[in-house]
Amino acid sequence: MNEARHGHAGRRSFLKLAGGACMISFVPSLLRAIGGFAFAGDEAAPGKPPFRTGIVYSPVYKKHITGIRHPERPERCDAIMNALEADKQLRLEKIEPRPATDAEIIACHTEGYLDVARRDITSGATNLSTGDTTVCKDSLAAALLAAGGTLSAVDAVFESKANNVFCVVRPPGHHARPAGGMGFCVFNNAAIAARYAQKKHKIGKVLIVDWDVHHGNGTQDIFYEDGSVFYFSTHQSPWYPGTGRADETGAGKGKGSTLNCPFSAGAGEKEIIGAFTDKLVPAANAFKPELVIISAGFDSRIGDPLGGFVLTDADFRELTKIMMTIADEHAGGRVVSVLEGGYSLQGLASAATAHVRTLAGKKKGL
Ligand SMILES: [Zn+2]
Repeated sequence: MNEARHGHAGRRSFLKLAGGACMISFVPSLLRAIGGFAFAGDEAAPGKPPFRTGIVYSPVYKKHITGIRHPERPERCDAIMNALEADKQLRLEKIEPRPATDAEIIACHTEGYLDVARRDITSGATNLSTGDTTVCKDSLAAALLAAGGTLSAVDAVFESKANNVFCVVRPPGHHARPAGGMGFCVFNNAAIAARYAQKKHKIGKVLIVDWDVHHGNGTQDIFYEDGSVFYFSTHQSPWYPGTGRADETGAGKGKGSTLNCPFSAGAGEKEIIGAFTDKLVPAANAFKPELVIISAGFDSRIGDPLGGFVLTDADFRELTKIMMTIADEHAGGRVVSVLEGGYSLQGLASAATAHVRTLAGKKKGL
């Protein structure tokens, strides 16, 4: 584990550091199951297959119940899915998630941790013993389906069922380290997707880009000495979980394949889009990924209760375009975007819709 090296502060509570997190008022859940969400895709030029954006979602993700006033709550799914469904211009391809297998989980986590997570949850614990992640009896099924949903997305982009995919999954994943979940995360969904793509679809290099306001310490740890997966993150610093310094750049075979861009609270378009343009794009062009994965946390949006960044929906459109350009250049356009944080229901719905509209090639705003 690289925790000591990274000056890890995972013992501190996510919620405690979140300040006013517990003050968020509940927005009534719309609690509508999705349906009728399989669309054929946009009109294509003659002879050209239609451009298709996929969506991974299951109501099982709402069975991961975190308790009253917890910011990472089931209503987050409804907020996004209802907003996407209400957008009649969006034509999305529904991709059914399947549970990840034990072998797929332990490609990124230790067998010991998988046992611990399973034991904690099935024994009725309300928190993972490895970190600050609230769980309930259905959390294992949700977490396995969250990880597996990203694998369904990977298959979809490699089997030409979709050009790109957004995964509305929870629990989120980027804080989950090899040997322990923390920070609302059980299994590292994005990391598991990267490993699966390498194994199943025989690719070499994967780029994971993390625009969540928090540093994805778990993803960094998993690939820190790897070299075949490049991890790029913009995040608030100082902030939970305390990792992600600019001088954390990887080790051994992974030296140079971690690129952290920490910014103070108040950072927005200038800093974040600047980092993507000036640092990520040249690094990605040198790395030449065959798959692009986004750890899409929308708690970096203005007004989020757990973050101090001020990105707007227009900025998320721009970040998405940059990711699509990288993918077009190197990865056959393949982008798998995986939901991480985002705790203002209204902000989450709005930013995620801007993101998905851009993935789907919609040029105009909301
Ligand atoms: Zn976050």
